[in-house]
Amino acid sequence: MIRRKAGIRLNRGMSEKPQLLLTPGPLTTSEATRNAMMRDWGSRDPAFIDLTRRVRTRITDLAGGAGTHTCVPLQGSGTYGLEAAIATFVPGDGHVLVLANGAYGHRIADIVEILGRRVSIIETGEDTPPAPAGLRERLSARDDITHVVLVHCETTSGILNPLAEIATVVADTGRSLIVDAMSSFGAIPIDVNAAPIDVLISSSNKCLEGAPGLAFVVARNESLAASVGNAPSMVLDLQAQSVGFQKTGEWRFTPPTHVVAALDAALHQLEEEGGVAARNKRYSENCTVLLDGMRALGFQPYLSHNLQAPTIVTFHTPADPKFDFTVFYDGLQDRGFTIYPGKLTKADSFRIGCIGQVFSGDMRAAVNAVKEVIEEMGVTL
Ligand SMILES: *Cc1c(COP(=O)(O)O)cnc(C)c1O
Repeated sequence: MIRRKAGIRLNRGMSEKPQLLLTPGPLTTSEATRNAMMRDWGSRDPAFIDLTRRVRTRITDLAGGAGTHTCVPLQGSGTYGLEAAIATFVPGDGHVLVLANGAYGHRIADIVEILGRRVSIIETGEDTPPAPAGLRERLSARDDITHVVLVHCETTSGILNPLAEIATVVADTGRSLIVDAMSSFGAIPIDVNAAPIDVLISSSNKCLEGAPGLAFVVARNESLAASVGNAPSMVLDLQAQSVGFQKTGEWRFTPPTHVVAALDAALHQLEEEGGVAARNKRYSENCTVLLDGMRALGFQPYLSHNLQAPTIVTFHTPADPKFDFTVFYDGLQDRGFTIYPGKLTKADSFRIGCIGQVFSGDMRAAVNAVKEVIEEMGVTL
């Protein structure tokens, strides 16, 4: 048995069966994306420099930032990108206000504190989006807050936070907006100029459906230029990282070459699929199939429908004491589905993701597997 931080016990290596990942990431990738990792690249080879440039341009374009923003990729998972963004864009005397309604928001507040910057938090419940009016009031009062951080889709619950409204308030009050768009970028339309965002952070392995190992920011050019010398770190200095790309097109330190190649392939497939609008439609269908199917079995979703992002759905744990999460998890794995073994901080719950290379037929099969496992356990809903 291994013990997860969230307190759910799982049996190690129960199933050898290939798994469809119904988690918040890493996700199921396409064969074409995995195949893109089958060759080796020299990191200073012109072909790889080209590949990096293409990936950076594609991401900037996807964010609507052509001409105003620059994509700076960084080795590591999404959290590396978040820490690098805070380190780079918040100066030593900066004061960050984090809008937190889940674990990821609180993690960002911890990052700000570890980096020795001032941090304040506006906390709302895990099922409650931050209120734009309250934020306006806070920022209109004379205080020294310089940056506001919003988690666009709080993957803790799957709640979609009101990016456009918050961005308007932050712009009106002359502060800088940093957005954790980890589990929304690629799945939910974002335009860094329409709802003004100074720094957006995301990663390769969520809704872009790439392999894990790469984070990136899409940063406003002025913000990048103004951040020279801010970072109390060498590897997390995104300003220095971007200078490397500008000067030679090369990464400062060994890049995850295979992951960059996989992301390039994944971005190409996103385009072929019809862009963010088409991916949003597919994920929304997945989400609807999952919600309808689970509701029909008697499960209760945690969020009301208008707050639900089409990325991951939180369900209340059934009240029947015969429901054992470990048995449930293992039963689904035996049937080829890996769900997410994490809990909310308060409500007793479990989560099923609907993003990655998965389709409505897969979600129907997953719901069917849930039905079988529940029947096997003898759980009444
Ligand atoms: C996945 C995720 C992260 C980053 O997590 P890593 O494990 O470092 O990749 C950060 N914020 C949100 C909202 C996420 O969904």
